[in-house]
Amino acid sequence: TAPATAFKRVMLKISGEALMGDQGYGLHPPTVQRIAEEVKSVHDMGVEICMVIGGGNIFRGLQGSAQGMERTTADYMGMLATVMNALAMQSALESLGVFTRVISAIPMDQICEPYIRRRAVRHLEKKRVCIFAAGTGNPYFTTDTAATLRASEMSCEAIFKGTKVDGVYDKDPVQHEDAVRYDNISYDDVLTKHLKVMDASAIALARDNNLPIIVFSLDEPGGFRGILAGKGTYTTVGG
Ligand code: UDP
Repeated sequence: TAPATAFKRVMLKISGEALMGDQGYGLHPPTVQRIAEEVKSVHDMGVEICMVIGGGNIFRGLQGSAQGMERTTADYMGMLATVMNALAMQSALESLGVFTRVISAIPMDQICEPYIRRRAVRHLEKKRVCIFAAGTGNPYFTTDTAATLRASEMSCEAIFKGTKVDGVYDKDPVQHEDAVRYDNISYDDVLTKHLKVMDASAIALARDNNLPIIVFSLDEPGGFRGILAGKGTYTTVGG
């Protein structure tokens, strides 16, 4: 039986890079499948799940513009990359019997649904995992901001930000052995200390909407479900 959880509806934000496994680029299907299983295990607890997946494993607007491409065009390419990742996750989740909808900020009706808030809420109530794609639909934003925006619109109780490490540290724990993990940290401290949790506009939006950000390790098997059940190590930003 599934453990009890206080959460009813959450947003899971993962970067595109989380889907590429040990490869330097693109999608690694076994990794996508593994993450889908983590999502299913939380879905099995009765939690309503929203997801936003980045696109950095395929294309980042800033990289494109650094190579001379027009910035907004490069950002649209980045948004399209997030749609590919969303479709890969949809396919993996549905292979496990979890019903899903991919909902795009930019309409592309043959591929997925357009974003209509009330419709998305209805999907969640029917226990469909909603994967929000194409970011906010606007250039110059990131998928962290998209996750915060959609989490606010969907009245999620928290954003779960899956990363390579189990929380927010005072310095990069991969490079510094003496890095210290915060249990709790305020939005303002994240901003003033320039800690790499999410970009500044996403942190500010979360702060303005009192939306806690729970930073946890996606590499830890069963970690997502464990944290929802009150176990494991993580950092709470705000809240
Ligand atoms: N992007 C955008 N507007 C948005 C969200 C994303 O223009 O609202 C573009 C931007 O170019 C970004 C790319 O999509 O570089 C991929 O998203 P992101 O960098 O957030 O992906 P992640 O780092 O999470 O994989």
